[in-house]
Amino acid sequence: MACLLRVALNPTFERSTVASERQNPSSHCKVSSFKTKTMSQSSAPGEKLMRKCRKKREEEEEPLGGDIEDLFSENETEKIRMGMLDWYDVNQRDLPWRKRRSESEKERRAYEVWVSEIMLQQTRVQTVMDYYKRWMQKWPTIYDLAQASLEEMGKDKMKKELAYLCFGKLEVNEMWAGLGYYRRARFLLEGAKMVVAGKDGFPNQASSLMKVKGIGEYTAGAIASIAFNEAVPVVDGNVIRVLARLKAISANPKDRLTARNFWKLAAQLVDPSRPGDFNQSLMELGATLCSVSKPSCSSCPVSSQCRAFSLSEENRTISVTDYPTKVIKAKPRRDFCCVCVLEILNLERNQSGGRFVLVKRPEQGLLAGLWEFPSVILDEEADSPTRRSAINLFLKEAFHVEPKKTCTIVSREELGEFVHVFTHIRRKVYVELLVVQLTGGTKDLFKGQAKDTLTWKCVGSDVLSTMGLTSAVRKVPPFPSSNHRKRLSLDVIDC
Ligand code: SF4
Repeated sequence: MACLLRVALNPTFERSTVASERQNPSSHCKVSSFKTKTMSQSSAPGEKLMRKCRKKREEEEEPLGGDIEDLFSENETEKIRMGMLDWYDVNQRDLPWRKRRSESEKERRAYEVWVSEIMLQQTRVQTVMDYYKRWMQKWPTIYDLAQASLEEMGKDKMKKELAYLCFGKLEVNEMWAGLGYYRRARFLLEGAKMVVAGKDGFPNQASSLMKVKGIGEYTAGAIASIAFNEAVPVVDGNVIRVLARLKAISANPKDRLTARNFWKLAAQLVDPSRPGDFNQSLMELGATLCSVSKPSCSSCPVSSQCRAFSLSEENRTISVTDYPTKVIKAKPRRDFCCVCVLEILNLERNQSGGRFVLVKRPEQGLLAGLWEFPSVILDEEADSPTRRSAINLFLKEAFHVEPKKTCTIVSREELGEFVHVFTHIRRKVYVELLVVQLTGGTKDLFKGQAKDTLTWKCVGSDVLSTMGLTSAVRKVPPFPSSNHRKRLSLDVIDC
């Protein structure tokens, strides 16, 4: 399972104003538009706006808040920049998304940074490497990606076959399968289409990048600084750790004001001549030497500027790992899920294997828009007969599949159970295999089911193995019969 290594602070949801302020430092209070407005309106809204501007100015002039008392001094800033860049030049890891590109290939570099940064959110570098290489082989430029679709299985058979011929077997969801947080893949695709459809080419500043679907302040900062040399900061979990230790900040990094102040510190440090390399050096230090539990301070290029390190040297009861403050996460809620791998035998066509029913998840929420086997969520643990009743009811209502009335049960067996942990849910999953033959033949298949409320399809085992099924679906335990296992072609992935 992917572990939460990167982006403890989700930049999409906890935006700071630093980047936009840097773009236009004098634009906070638009006096001219205020004047125009008051010409035709009473003075009350004008006064309100003045008060708002005054408050905003005061807020900007406030000390940093929390226990972040001040910014780095000029001398500290200079030393940190120099130390970090020298260290990075020698020690940076050789990663596939760090290829140097020429001036004329800036957009390509921007696309590569974008894809890698989105993949790296919530996912380990080691896991991302293979995904990244496969992705770039298939869609080496943003123009290639913009031609793709979210999933290979179009409703129209001709279109589907054409897609196979033109673009190969896999599409975005399929390529992303196993990386989790599938909304990232959807937004990446939508963002690529948006950029390619626009008239202005690839946005080359953080402020304009943030207008693209799925690009938040963190990703915008990474693309703008690394590909386009704009001096804007990036703040992810690794950067927060390094900054919190450099300044010995013990305030809660998830707190809104503290989070904003981390952006201010990062903005102050970023090197104007090599912003991309500097940002990457901070992230790299956090990912390697300045790790969560075993920092290697003796090899650190900025240990002389590190307040946490000097405090720990002065007082042995203090450890650099006391920073940043650990935020206790809420326990994930528990629920239970019955999954029915429903195989429909089609004896009319004399096929050896049947077809499997898949249901599309809603377009919003957990695992939005992905395909899964028919399943029912239960609030509490239930015994086998109760689970079967729940599945029977669902199959009857959703698909008109009803034992003895519309179908004959060929076999029904429990396949096992496993636990799948999402960020906020700990789900115990029970899996059964139900093989049926429809009494009225395939013409009665799903007769009367509510197509409007549920999107479903039947696929052969060959298609199933290439689809972008979620890793929870792929965890379905091995079938007792190797024949079934072969027919489904599912791999069991680690828990
Ligand atoms: S001295 Fe230690 S704690 Fe401080 S930044 Fe370096 S590795 Fe991190």
